Amino acid sequence: MAEIVARLGVIGGTGLYRMDGLADIEEREIMTPFGPPSGPITLGTLGDERVAFLARHGRGHRLSPTRVPYRSNLWALKSLGVERVIAVSAVGSLREELAPLDLVVPDQLFDRTTDRARTFFDADAGCVAHVSLADPFCLATSAALHAAASAPGIGARVHRGGTYICIEGPQFSTRGESRVFREWGMDIIGMTGMPEARLAREAELCYAMLALVTDYDVWREEEEPVTVQIVVERLHRNAAAARETLRALIPRLAAIGGCTCRAALQDAIVTDPAVIPSKARERLDLLLGRYLA
Ligand SMILES: [Zn+2]
Repeated sequence: MAEIVARLGVIGGTGLYRMDGLADIEEREIMTPFGPPSGPITLGTLGDERVAFLARHGRGHRLSPTRVPYRSNLWALKSLGVERVIAVSAVGSLREELAPLDLVVPDQLFDRTTDRARTFFDADAGCVAHVSLADPFCLATSAALHAAASAPGIGARVHRGGTYICIEGPQFSTRGESRVFREWGMDIIGMTGMPEARLAREAELCYAMLALVTDYDVWREEEEPVTVQIVVERLHRNAAAARETLRALIPRLAAIGGCTCRAALQDAIVTDPAVIPSKARERLDLLLGRYLA
């Protein structure tokens, strides 16, 4: 079992490259079987909780959504003892009622990515596992995150539920795509929720998302099409709400109800343990150790 350095992990997306207000800061460079994560992990104390923070796109925003090393990022957090991950993500809105500067805690994901490693159980894993993704976000953690975002003083409108469609990018959508996504019933659009959620589930991490709405994508005829300038300017304004939400989440962590995320692999491994090579077991010991003892 991993040494428990921090139980709460935060992955900061565009606009949230560091976490203010952390005490006793320490940085860790971590190597994983899948290469290094996006950057060093910052450990710090928020309230009375040790938090592990990782900037998804790396320092200075060097990594495109396609190039983010998602597997290394989730692995690195897991190796620090993290049990729960809050992903902070900038999104476009596909619904009139989800306005720029609102916050959304989505409950579903739709994956349209095409060019990313999406599983820890790759060709070198030596075994096959099929985890459930029916509810890709941890429902209990999402409920607590929504409650925290709704706390007095956060100052942003918060929505619970909704489907996040993840596109490959790095370009924004065409108007045609955006209109079709709306017809499909999608609510918000981003470029990083997948495979992050898939990998969190395989790593038996509770995963919930705080989505920061920056724009109306390109479907709304009366609106200027989304640009990087629009996204960045609005993110500066609601990154503060994201930080306050994380702060308000800390005292709620202890009361979070039960979930099945932390036993996601329990009945998911279909390979006969007798045929899993020892080298493969060693490589994925952080995930499989407790099942292949
Ligand atoms: Zn969970």
